[in-house]
This record gives sequence, structure tokens and C-alpha cells, in this order.
Amino acid sequence: MEEKNAMSECIFCRIVKGEIPSKKVYEDENFVAFHDIDPQAPVHIIVIPKKHIESLNEATEEDAKLLGEWVFTARKIAEKLKLDKGYRIVINTGPQGGQVVLHLHLHLLGGRNMGWPPG
Ligand code: 5GP
Ligand code: ZN
Repeated sequence: MEEKNAMSECIFCRIVKGEIPSKKVYEDENFVAFHDIDPQAPVHIIVIPKKHIESLNEATEEDAKLLGEWVFTARKIAEKLKLDKGYRIVINTGPQGGQVVLHLHLHLLGGRNMGWPPG
């Protein structure tokens, strides 16, 4: 029941269901990708599994295939968006990792040079 409530209130689950509008760039059976509402680069796409997993730390061995397909999906989106000079994929995890939205997501950032070390 607790899990159900977390999912019904989850911003990204609501985007999956179309209850919150988003600018989608990709969707298939398992994943959705959309423009970040507060872009940190000329291209800033959020790629999520439709399955509600709070963070990378909550993914299980059973999710391993999904996680691989998720990263590969991000790479296909980078190709589609012609990020041929490169891009960065970021998975913020937990409070110290800077994770705010508690639904597993990756950031696909491109269109400018990326600094290192990251902030
Ligand atoms: P986090 O810090 O959790 O890794 O990143 C969450 C990201 O989701 C942030 O970059 C934030 O701008 C984005 N975001 C939060 N709410 C929404 C929303 O309602 N729509 C979209 N498109 N992006 C959102
Ligand atoms: Zn969710």
C-alpha cells in the first residue's frame, strides 16, 4: 500500500501515465525520455524506466537486463539527437549524489563541453 501511494504521487510515474505533460523525445514498452524542465545544457534529456524503482540502490539483480537496456536506450537517443561530438550520462543516487526525484532516471546532457570534476 505504501509502495502504491509512492507511485501514484511520483512525478515521473505521472509523466509516464500522461497526467503531467512533458516534451517526450522517445517512448517504448519499458522506457520514456523527455526534456528536463530545467535544462542544464543545450540538450538535457531525462530517460526513465516506466517501472517505479526509487533509485539505483533499489534496483535488484532481476532489474539487471532492464538497466542495460536503459543505458543502451540513452545511447540510441544520443544518436537520434545527433550528439556526435559526445555527451554525458549522469545517474544521481541518494541525497549526497544530488538525487531529488525518487524514480530511477538518468540525465543525458550534450551540446556543450562538460567540465570535470563535476559539481
Ligand atoms: P535529480 O536531481 O533527481 O537527479 O534530477 C531530477 C530532474 O528532474 C531535475 O533535473 C529536474 O529539473 C527534473 N524535473 C523535475 N520535475 C520535472 C517535471 O515535472 N518535468 C520535467 N520535464 N522535468 C522535471
Ligand atoms: Zn515513479
